[in-house]
Amino acid sequence: MSVENLQGWRRGWALPDRRPIHDWARDFVQLGGGYARQGAFDIRTCRHLLEPFEAVADERVREVTCRAAIQTLKTLFVEICSLWAIANEPGPIMWTQQDDESAAEHVKGRYRNLLRNCEPVARLLPKNKHDAATCEIYFGDFYIIINGANLNNLQSKSIRWKLNSECWLWKQGLLTHARRRVSAYARDGISKILNESQGSQDGDDFDRLWHDGTSQAWSVQCFGCGTFQPLVFFGRAEGEAAKRACVVWDENAKRDNGQWDEQKVRASTRWLCPRCGHEHTNSAGTRAKWNATGRYSAPRSDRDGKHRSFNWNALLAEDLGQLAVEFIQAGEFKKRGQIAPLRDFYMQRLALPWRNEEQQITRATVELRGDYLLGEFQEKAAERIENEARRMMTIDRQRDHFWAVIRAWRSDGGSRLLWRGKISTTEQAEEVRARFGVEPQLCFEDAQFSTAQVYEDCIRYGWTALHGSGEDSFAHLGRGGQKVQKFFSSIKQTQVPGGYARYMFWASDPVKDILAALVAGTSHPWECGRDHGEEYARHLRGEIKRERISKATGRSEWRWTKQGPNHMWDCEAMQVAVALALQLIPSPEKHDENHILQPAVVGH
Ligand SMILES: [Zn+2]
Repeated sequence: MSVENLQGWRRGWALPDRRPIHDWARDFVQLGGGYARQGAFDIRTCRHLLEPFEAVADERVREVTCRAAIQTLKTLFVEICSLWAIANEPGPIMWTQQDDESAAEHVKGRYRNLLRNCEPVARLLPKNKHDAATCEIYFGDFYIIINGANLNNLQSKSIRWKLNSECWLWKQGLLTHARRRVSAYARDGISKILNESQGSQDGDDFDRLWHDGTSQAWSVQCFGCGTFQPLVFFGRAEGEAAKRACVVWDENAKRDNGQWDEQKVRASTRWLCPRCGHEHTNSAGTRAKWNATGRYSAPRSDRDGKHRSFNWNALLAEDLGQLAVEFIQAGEFKKRGQIAPLRDFYMQRLALPWRNEEQQITRATVELRGDYLLGEFQEKAAERIENEARRMMTIDRQRDHFWAVIRAWRSDGGSRLLWRGKISTTEQAEEVRARFGVEPQLCFEDAQFSTAQVYEDCIRYGWTALHGSGEDSFAHLGRGGQKVQKFFSSIKQTQVPGGYARYMFWASDPVKDILAALVAGTSHPWECGRDHGEEYARHLRGEIKRERISKATGRSEWRWTKQGPNHMWDCEAMQVAVALALQLIPSPEKHDENHILQPAVVGH
């Protein structure tokens, strides 16, 4: 008897387990080292998964879509459903994640152990190694394939269980291909699609899919009036639109300088019922009660219920004071042109869709500040300004001339323009650098064009080359081996005729966002001198932000686009890139979420 037949025969004798998925999971799903809460799965600690599990088991439901905060067990939800399907509702399973690499990492990192530790699944696992490649496991007459979201992977196979993870990262159009894979099983009424993601971009594939479903929000019972209210971060008091509700903190929790006092914000944060104004203390006790009695809002009445969609966010698991402080900090970064923390807060923490609010900024009226004269520095070029930390020179190379900017930076992010202008030769550029006392390695030349000549300059004069890049960020290895994303690369070296040239990449669009906030005056003091001149001002108006469709993702995005002479704008952008690298301008460090393991949600 072949292995396949034997396994089919054995399964034929095992009665499917008809208990609810979470009961089955308590007996058979063992959480190992990859999870903060280890041991048997316990639905009582994460009751927000109860209704989604019921929807998966409901034979009338064809599709379940969860939009959820990071670290609130959304991946575990899909993992458990897949184990349950293998043991109780077998059929071809395809689990598609953001890309092939992260899919393989997920299997090796924790999913394989879940399979092995789940007894009803473990006894189906193939003994033959050829049947168990990392991401394709054959259980005799069916299989599970775990792959990345690309067109190749999503064509041709007929699938009963189609699991789709982290859909906010998928290229537009792929979700449709993925969901089509079940059509043969859908005709028999036994197909199932599970979609899971944090908040995505407003109006994209995943956002529209979620709204196509029953659109149900995790809701908690108010300790005051007893009504169920969606557990959300932003809200307004009913009948009193001016009054904030939901997560609120002391409006007076500010220091004398007008900045929020984070300690006071943390200490005063609470959750206000939008209906009756009852104040729920920010405590583990409140979260435990919410967990015990919470449920989802009613399904939308204009939906047929075959597609259930659920939304839950970080409020059910996280300290509310922590969330309030994150929101406040994100707002501060936004003023400085750094939008990513606020976007992450919406998408990762609140599990809400994010809408790019950027207007097509008309930069015709760029107003440049500074009540000093550049002319003054001709005499005292090398003299330091008050509290100066570093000064940099940045050079934009053209075919037969150069544009350059010298700026002195203070350690608090403030800066003062010292020199700007056009230069004919590298020798002249070097002369200007030396006159202003800029350290050679802090003289940066744009290497996008005539790269070989730029490297030559860098070796001759000890300058550093810069490459503007369309990347959003660059990975750095932080302490403890964790990946951290920054707007610039580490300094690299390359061997060219004549020696080694130093160079660095910088993320053009996010850095220009920061520059735009400096120019607009909403960020650190950024001075230009009264006599900066019309040509400098014209170059600073030389780029505007325009919306376009990204080739890589198919989503809309805003990119800085040249609309006139922009060389000194580029020089100023390079100044900002270096100021970020030297930590003269604060920058949020984005950790790679894939390397953070999901903790258990609610403690006892
Ligand atoms: Zn109430």
